[in-house]
Amino acid sequence: MVKTIRKKTEEKESLVLSTIRENQPISRTKLKGLTGIRLATITDVVKRLKQDGLIIEQGREESLRGRKQSLLRINGERYFALGLEFDAEKIIVLLIDLNSQIKKIGKTEIGEDKREESITERIASAASSLCEGIPREKLLGLGIADPGVVDSEKGISLFSSLIPNWENVPLGRILNERLKIPVKLIGAPKAKVMAEFRLGAGKGINDLLFIEFGPGIACGIISEGRLLRGHNEMAGELGHTHVSDNGTICACGSYGCLEAITAVPAIVKKIKESIKAGSESLIKNSEDEQITAVEIFQAAKHGDKLCLNILSKAAHYLGLGIANAVNLFNPEMVIFDQRMGIGGDFFLEEIKQVIKRQALRFATGSLKFAVSPLGEKGGPLGAATLILDEFFQSGGRM
Ligand SMILES: [Zn+2]
Repeated sequence: MVKTIRKKTEEKESLVLSTIRENQPISRTKLKGLTGIRLATITDVVKRLKQDGLIIEQGREESLRGRKQSLLRINGERYFALGLEFDAEKIIVLLIDLNSQIKKIGKTEIGEDKREESITERIASAASSLCEGIPREKLLGLGIADPGVVDSEKGISLFSSLIPNWENVPLGRILNERLKIPVKLIGAPKAKVMAEFRLGAGKGINDLLFIEFGPGIACGIISEGRLLRGHNEMAGELGHTHVSDNGTICACGSYGCLEAITAVPAIVKKIKESIKAGSESLIKNSEDEQITAVEIFQAAKHGDKLCLNILSKAAHYLGLGIANAVNLFNPEMVIFDQRMGIGGDFFLEEIKQVIKRQALRFATGSLKFAVSPLGEKGGPLGAATLILDEFFQSGGRM
């Protein structure tokens, strides 16, 4: 009995706190309207949340009867959350307050040493130097956007095709021991779609797809207002859906995968091969020289026929892959990785045309498109947001 009452109280606290978070500044009367909880209970819950320093009263608004009502807000500075994303090249880490405001951000290059212990050490020191000077009791936790496959229950980074020999790394335990705060792992595309859903182009949209484009291809899915993880975190592997029978081998061991044809390394490989075979291009390239996605998009922007041609084929296949995802998940909006917009509109326009042509017209009729406004902040921001979400769902209890 006592347990049931406590659970009900916690549910009400969670609902009140989340409603304030999403509708602030808000009066008690409006809270009653939105939550359906009695005003007397709201007054009690608000009292507890104020005592804990989680909400503050700030400003007033005129009520219907002409009485001034004080407005409630989340006290952003009460607690903080850390978010971090890493891949083979860099680490981005940021600190947000309870209102998801970024307070600090840092970027570290991984460098030449890609050994597991060296990368984990760099991740740990990047995170700990960013939260220097902040008392541990004010930190709710660290969310990590992982470039590969994770076991989020156990906090293990299982595998990443981007980092050599990266397997079964107990990142959660290592960082928890080092930082003394809770650590949560999530796949980067899932973190990115969460960030768009809460703070970016998809704010308030309950059915969203975020398309990640870079060394790999993947998508993050919000369906009916919830992040889709799948049975064991594998939902959203758009890059390994089959789009061609041309036999291109993929790093996953299969062939004809979207990623093997359209991800940045595949595009770079095709351009190098074509130049070697004698094709004219603005990109001057010798065997061992690196070509970046930015160079390719820029050359296409300046009318480079080779780059235009290869990017156009990549756009075609990306469009096919995304059209399949649109038919499966019926999103209201598709958000493209900021990296897809580097070369101007032509690449995205081609993708959109294929999606509209290929997916069912009832699914594309009202489909919206956007380019991520969050860019490389999206991963760490989404990972930190998960820490905040959990805190708010628990009614603000540590
Ligand atoms: Zn594959």
